[in-house]
Amino acid sequence: MKKIALFPGSFDPITLGHLDIITRGGKIFDEVIVTILTNTSKASLFSPEEKEMLVKEAVKGLPNVKVLLQEEALTVEVAKKLGANYLLRGIRSVKDFEYERDIALMNRHLASEVESVFLFTDPKYNFVSSSMIKEVAKFKGDISPYVPKNVKEALLQKGE
Ligand code: ADP
Repeated sequence: MKKIALFPGSFDPITLGHLDIITRGGKIFDEVIVTILTNTSKASLFSPEEKEMLVKEAVKGLPNVKVLLQEEALTVEVAKKLGANYLLRGIRSVKDFEYERDIALMNRHLASEVESVFLFTDPKYNFVSSSMIKEVAKFKGDISPYVPKNVKEALLQKGE
């Protein structure tokens, strides 16, 4: 059976931390589907279509990675609908670990056939979050080591 992993997130915007997890996931799984949640309660800087464009550009060198906009729903239901038997998530810290463990246990209760798989972040990106990137970019701080080039340009445009 083809091993397909879902990598769900808000990606507002995608960072090199996300891209690191996607790239490494692509080496483990036959296919990685990045789902960008479109109606999260978090206030978004980028529109769903902008996020999709930025993620698609960032992953274009990765042949087994697909990108989809996804209305918020139960993640395991989205996974089952797409034929994904794995959920891929990144872990940066103990805080992420505890949060992700609770989600994984609930997802296991909801659909035990969908296995959650975690990768530890490359330490270079341990402290990087989309919200911190937005905050620093807003005040014109240098974020270039932490985001793909297209994201840096898009953030600069938002600030103009
Ligand atoms: P969510 O709103 O679901 O937390 P995010 O876009 O913030 O969405 O994150 C999606 C996934 O990417 C989560 O598993 C998160 O832990 C992971 N992630 C976020 N930032 C990083 C990073 N800097 N390095 C590695 N993984 C990350």
